Amino acid sequence: MQIIAIDGPVGAGKSTIAKLLAGRLGYAYIDTGAMYRAIGWKAYTTEAPISEGSLEKLCDSTRLDIELTDSQQRVIVDGKDITDEIRTPEISRMSSVVSAYASVRRYLVKLQRDTGISWAKRYGGVIAEGRDMGTVVFPDAAFKFYLDADIVERGKRRWKELQDKGMEAELSETVKGIEERDANDKGREIDPLRKAEGAIIIDTTGLSVEEVVEEMLRKIKGKSFEN
Ligand code: C5P
Repeated sequence: MQIIAIDGPVGAGKSTIAKLLAGRLGYAYIDTGAMYRAIGWKAYTTEAPISEGSLEKLCDSTRLDIELTDSQQRVIVDGKDITDEIRTPEISRMSSVVSAYASVRRYLVKLQRDTGISWAKRYGGVIAEGRDMGTVVFPDAAFKFYLDADIVERGKRRWKELQDKGMEAELSETVKGIEERDANDKGREIDPLRKAEGAIIIDTTGLSVEEVVEEMLRKIKGKSFEN
């Protein structure tokens, strides 16, 4: 059973790449950002006060299920499938806000570990993607990758995703939103985004997703042969 951690800022290509890599290796994948979005969505839709105590209660009273389908990870909160609803700019912002709270991280880190280990056993391996996979959730992962790309390219990727889903967005606003979320993720006190020790860093600027996946597979297979 093998766990592969992928971290990096918004728009570095983590989700698409994690999914493709999982397909190539026959592993499961976990998009942990979707779990922060789920809590952000619940806080937003219930207009919960944003404080440690209130978010702790919210987590305690939430049933969060993630299900793996062929094409996508589905997110179900209290029995409702919210997979598509959590991709709006408002929920992006809200997920970043709630992710700074210790009670939210405690709740999700445990759920991510439990799910990761159980899926890794069932599928032979798991690709876990987020901000603190290599540093906090799976510090003993067999491989740790840190994906990055220049801000303009990351902005364009995220903007195109929104366009493809029929959502109105200005490129400049999208870039601003990304910069804000990156600053929150890198600057927060608990589990900030940083490169894990021993992480393999890949700059995905100008690379296609296939090129990045091939590069990662080369690293994984190369190291597996060494051992
Ligand atoms: O990856 P995605 O953009 O969907 O993540 C949404 C938000 O969840 C991020 O902006 C980040 O604040 C938070 N997050 C986190 N730790 C993770 C994954 C996501 O704090 N492991």
